[in-house]
Amino acid sequence: MTRRGLGAFVGLRGVLVRDAPLARYTSWRAGGPADLLFRPADRNDLAAFVRQLPADVALHVLGLGSNTLVRDGGVRGAVVVMHDPGAALAVADGLIYAEAGAASPKVARLAARLGCEGAAFLAGVPGTVGGALAMNAGCYGGETWNHVARVEVLGRDGRFAVRTPADYAIGYRSVRRADGSPSDGIFTAAWFAFAAGDATKARARIKELLAKRIASQPLSLPNAGSVFRNPEGDHAARLIEAAGLKGHAIGGARVSEMHANFIVNPGGRARASDIEALIGHVRLTVKARFGIDLEPEVRIVGDAARPVEAGR
Ligand SMILES: Cc1cc2nc3c(=O)[nH]c(=O)nc-3n(C[C@H](O)[C@H](O)[C@H](O)COP(=O)(O)OP(=O)(O)OC[C@H]3O[C@@H](n4cnc5c(N)ncnc54)[C@H](O)[C@@H]3O)c2cc1C
Repeated sequence: MTRRGLGAFVGLRGVLVRDAPLARYTSWRAGGPADLLFRPADRNDLAAFVRQLPADVALHVLGLGSNTLVRDGGVRGAVVVMHDPGAALAVADGLIYAEAGAASPKVARLAARLGCEGAAFLAGVPGTVGGALAMNAGCYGGETWNHVARVEVLGRDGRFAVRTPADYAIGYRSVRRADGSPSDGIFTAAWFAFAAGDATKARARIKELLAKRIASQPLSLPNAGSVFRNPEGDHAARLIEAAGLKGHAIGGARVSEMHANFIVNPGGRARASDIEALIGHVRLTVKARFGIDLEPEVRIVGDAARPVEAGR
């Protein structure tokens, strides 16, 4: 894809960067550049960008990159970074309205302030609302889509649509269109419904869950949370630990000693290829030992090596 092929854009208010390093946009702090990166000023700016992006240019979405491994060769096409510290969060008709670029913990804190219970699980999920919708993020008995009343999505045609949970087949860390059509858009906002409760209890629950995380997860080192989905009836962390893999390292990437389902990148020295090789090694070792094929929960995107192209 030539620079010209990525499109010429007019009237955008957000930040548009070519050959933009992505490591800083992922919690693993690894990976190569995007051909084109766009940080929209707001949802209308995003729509303007999508409408102008040539139809044959791939479009990828990143929230806070806390569940994503970008390969070292980077991402061909355009990457939209949705995280926006100024994203709207409001109360509308008894629901919490959150733009997709808002950080999920903010939803938990607003819900607690409003005296709603059931949102505390989001307090420790370090991604965006859009990422939580795309992944059906969950923990400690809570799941994102259990609380979604409706969502707004932006299609590749640059048009917004409002959908309800009935439009999706929702499962464990999985969200697909119910009619089997391919996922067709960017989540731009959600309306959440949480049960009325007690603000003091809700705040206490947030504190309790954050304390549990601090005690059990390597939060001071770059990581992407749980690398593998839990297999039916078991825990990936238990299997990885039982396979003797805690502390196992490839290049700069290491299986956390604190939580075996986390791969950490101390000092940000790992290449994405180290992390991916370690994911592969863990998978093969657990399969050989227990006959269980662990499925990655993290999304792996991009090219292994940056191709050298004429004309760049
Ligand atoms: C320390 C730590 C703890 C974690 N704990 C948990 C946990 O308890 N439970 C849990 O479920 N996850 C957990 N995670 C993983 C991660 O935080 C969640 O999956 C989170 O919801 C991802 O949000 P994000 O914005 O970072 O997504 P990204 O990593 O940026 O993207 C993830 C996927 O969602 C897609 N996506 C992102 N935004 C949008 C959008 N607006 N529209 C359409 N698609 C979009 C991306 O294309 C990608 O496929 C943890 C991660 C870390 C680092």
